[in-house]
Amino acid sequence: MSHANRYTGLVDRYRDRLPVSPTTRAISLNEGNTPLIKLENIPRILGKDVEIYVKYEGLNPTGSFKDRGMTMAVTKAVEEGSKAIICASTGNTSAAAAAYAARAGIKAFVLIPEGKIAMGKMAQAMMYGAITMQIRGNFDDGMRLVKEVADQAPVTIVNSINPYRLQGQKTIAYEIVDALGRAPDYHCLPVGNAGNITAHWMGYTEALTESFEYPRDQVIYDAEADAFTGAKPAGRPIMVGYQASGAAPFLRGGPISDPETVATAIRIGNPQSFNHAKAVVKESEGWFDELTDAEILDAQRMLSMYEGVFVEPASAASIGGAMRDIKAGKIAEGSVIVCTVTGNGLKDPDTAIKQCEDAVMLSIDATMNQVKESILSNM
Ligand SMILES: *Cc1c(COP(=O)(O)O)cnc(C)c1O
Repeated sequence: MSHANRYTGLVDRYRDRLPVSPTTRAISLNEGNTPLIKLENIPRILGKDVEIYVKYEGLNPTGSFKDRGMTMAVTKAVEEGSKAIICASTGNTSAAAAAYAARAGIKAFVLIPEGKIAMGKMAQAMMYGAITMQIRGNFDDGMRLVKEVADQAPVTIVNSINPYRLQGQKTIAYEIVDALGRAPDYHCLPVGNAGNITAHWMGYTEALTESFEYPRDQVIYDAEADAFTGAKPAGRPIMVGYQASGAAPFLRGGPISDPETVATAIRIGNPQSFNHAKAVVKESEGWFDELTDAEILDAQRMLSMYEGVFVEPASAASIGGAMRDIKAGKIAEGSVIVCTVTGNGLKDPDTAIKQCEDAVMLSIDATMNQVKESILSNM
C-alpha cells in the first residue's frame, strides 16, 4: 500500500538540501514540521502593532528542537557504521540522543551535570535506555570530557560540534519561510551553546538564496578578522540571541567559569559555536541581550497563561527578550517577529510548580455544593 502523503521526518522532507544520498536510511521519529503559532493576546497586552509567532519546538518527538539535529547526526553515524554515540548534555541533547539511538539499535552514552537537569529529561534518558553518567561538574566539563574520550573509544560525538547536527537544525528556517512565504523581520531565540542560532542563520541564508549548501563564500563577516568581506543576501531576518544573566558569555565577551540559571538548558559558560554565533549577529545586524531568572520565569508564565503555550524556562528567554525589546521600541512596530520556543514545559515540572504558588488550587469535599461554590466564587 502506498502512503505517499505521510510525513516521515525532516531527512525525507529535505533530502535534496541535506548531506544525504537518495538511498541513505533515515533514522527518524517524524521530527520537524512543528506549528508556527501566531500570538493573539500578548501583542495586545504590549499595546504594540506587531505580529509575533512562536515556533513550537517542544512538539518534537522528544520535546525539543534537539531532535532536528539528532535525526541527521544519528542517520550519518549509522551510515558510517558507528555502533555508539556520546554527548554531554544539559538534558535535551541526552534525551534526543537516547531516543534516536534506541530507534537505530545502537548505544547512547550521555554525560549530564549531577543534580542540574530537569526531571522530565532525566526520565527520558533512563526510559530510552541510555547509559547515563552523572558527572560532578557542569556541561562545559562534560563537553571537554566527551571530546577527550572520543579520541580513545569507538563513539561518535553527537553534540553540536558534530556538523550534521546543525545541518538538521537549519531546517527550522525552511519551515518558517515556507509558512510565512518570507523570512520574518526579526528572529529571537535563546542562546546556550550557540549552535541553534548558527543553524537558523544557515537555514535562512540557504532558503533565501536557494543555494542549499552553507554558503561560507557568501559570509560577509569574518569573526577572526572582525571585518566584512562581501555583500549580503537580501531578506534575511535580524537575529537576536537572549541569554540568562548568570550564563551570559556573549554579554561578558568570552567564556565564564561558573554559569548558573534556573534555565538549565542554557546553563553554559563556554559556547562551542561562540565565533559562529558572533558572526551571525554581526551579519544580520542583530544583538545579544540577557534576562534575569525572574524575567525568564515571568515570560514562561505569561506565555502559558495568555497564549496556552507551555515551554521550558530556557525557551521563554526568547519571548521574554522579544517582549522587552518590543516595549522599548528596539524591535520596531509593524515588524513580523518569530521566537523559537525550544523545549516543552512538561520537561521541567518542578520549576513550573514552584513558581505557581499563587495558582488557584482548591481542596474541597466531593460534593456538588462545594464544586458549585468554587465555580461561583471564582468567576
Ligand atoms: C539546547 C537548548 C537551548 C540552547 O541551544 P544552543 O544551540 O545550545 O544555543 C535552548 N533551549 C533548549 C530547550 C535547549 O534544549
